[in-house]
Amino acid sequence: MDISHIEHIGIAVKNLDESIKLYENILGMKCYRIEEVKDQKVRTAFFKIGQTKLELLEPTDTTSPINKFIEKRGEGLHHIALNVDNVNTALNELFVKGIKLIDEKARDGAEGLQIGFVHPKSANGVLLEFCSSK
Ligand code: ZN
Repeated sequence: MDISHIEHIGIAVKNLDESIKLYENILGMKCYRIEEVKDQKVRTAFFKIGQTKLELLEPTDTTSPINKFIEKRGEGLHHIALNVDNVNTALNELFVKGIKLIDEKARDGAEGLQIGFVHPKSANGVLLEFCSSK
């Protein structure tokens, strides 16, 4: 598996608009994209830092996994996304090595990326996302 860089860091927030203000007004960053990912019941906002992004995630529904996360653990660091050449190849490789996966096959994420999650139980309590542009 060839991990090229941290594609983004996902942060769970209760109120996307309020959180955008923090990053724009206090930290001087610029939100370049807001996107709703219906599949995951979230609204996302993206900021770029070099080739890595921050992805703020706001639940759009009480059944959203992000809402469940916030209810259980509060707002904060949600996941780290690693960029690979091909998500399905990476997920297959991990599966063969006995790693517990949330997604055995890639699905559509924000920004037109293919994404797949590894179970935190297999990654020191960290929710790892793999993503690729194909
Ligand atoms: Zn993500």
